[in-house]
Amino acid sequence: MPDDIYLNNPERLFEALEKELSNPDNMVVVQIAPAVRVALGEEFGYFPGEDLTGRTVGLLQQLGFDHVIDTPLGADVNIYEEAYEILHALEREDDDYFPVFNSCCIGWRLYCSRTHEDVCKHISPIASPHMISGSIAKHYLENKFHKPKEEIISVSIMPCTLKKYETMERLPDGAKYVDYVLTTQELADFAKRKGLDLKAAPEGNFSELLPGSSKDGVVFGVTGGLAEALLTTLAHILDVEKEDEHYFRSNDSIKKRKVRLGKYTLDVVSVHGFANLEKVLKEIELGEKYHFVEVMNCPYGCVGGPGQPLPPTEEKLRARAAGLRRAADTKGAFATVPQENPTVQKIYQELLDFPGSETARRLLYFQKVKLK
Ligand code: SF4
Repeated sequence: MPDDIYLNNPERLFEALEKELSNPDNMVVVQIAPAVRVALGEEFGYFPGEDLTGRTVGLLQQLGFDHVIDTPLGADVNIYEEAYEILHALEREDDDYFPVFNSCCIGWRLYCSRTHEDVCKHISPIASPHMISGSIAKHYLENKFHKPKEEIISVSIMPCTLKKYETMERLPDGAKYVDYVLTTQELADFAKRKGLDLKAAPEGNFSELLPGSSKDGVVFGVTGGLAEALLTTLAHILDVEKEDEHYFRSNDSIKKRKVRLGKYTLDVVSVHGFANLEKVLKEIELGEKYHFVEVMNCPYGCVGGPGQPLPPTEEKLRARAAGLRRAADTKGAFATVPQENPTVQKIYQELLDFPGSETARRLLYFQKVKLK
């Protein structure tokens, strides 16, 4: 498999993908990020923010992918692991562990490694949602079908050009978490070249083998979503009420909240845009204490990612953000928190054992790779 990341070369990317899809030995698994479902439609004449999950799945099936899974499933597992890591640190009163920064924004990880190296040790060790979905798909399907992992190809449809960097990261067994990343724009281009139109695509369903995600996994794709997911999940684990669940749903560039969860009080901040991030980093440098810092490089979070349809007007970003929050609430009927998601339960029973297990650390956590 080629080892470069096709950063600016869709021709080579499409050619390589065609080859993988036409190889009868391959099982090609594709996943879609939350933000893609509310933006891909713009390339086909839909309004921004329309939730087109079913049609996007149908389009990917028409393109020949064997299994379509949801990146929010990886987000569910990410937040479940994160919640336990934080809880254990709180239990052992490990103040040095905090603040924890999210790892899911590659723009933030790259920026941090270049400009704030001392802060990097506080970035969560848990891999990003699409890396987790890719790793789970490879290992789960390998066990299920006794298929060599090299023949299970993992493809991500992402709102983010920078996510291509994460195709360079490898698991301890040498496999990549994700082999190829296509942006939302590239998926539209790939489909159009094959004469396919999202408007004519059938409504599809996620693979029966790894279906579904919770509300928390979907809301990840918009600013404040990760903070909301973490707090909801922690409240559920601790079996306590959480006040004002939707506080982090505003589009404000910096959102701060002291949240009481049983015997713990957590200071949480959510920020999008680097200029705003610098303000929060300065506060921390001056002694402000936070438990969790959610950083999203792009305006409004991943809905405003650089791989999304252009131009990224304020109006479009607002519509995508609102559309994704609506889509998350629809998913809430299926499961609100990761631990209630039957697919997450199945994955832990059949593959991972429990959050923080040796297997979970091997398959879901970052291995040491310098992204510089
Ligand atoms: S916020 Fe932007 S840079 Fe960060 S992962 Fe999302 S799309 Fe990529």
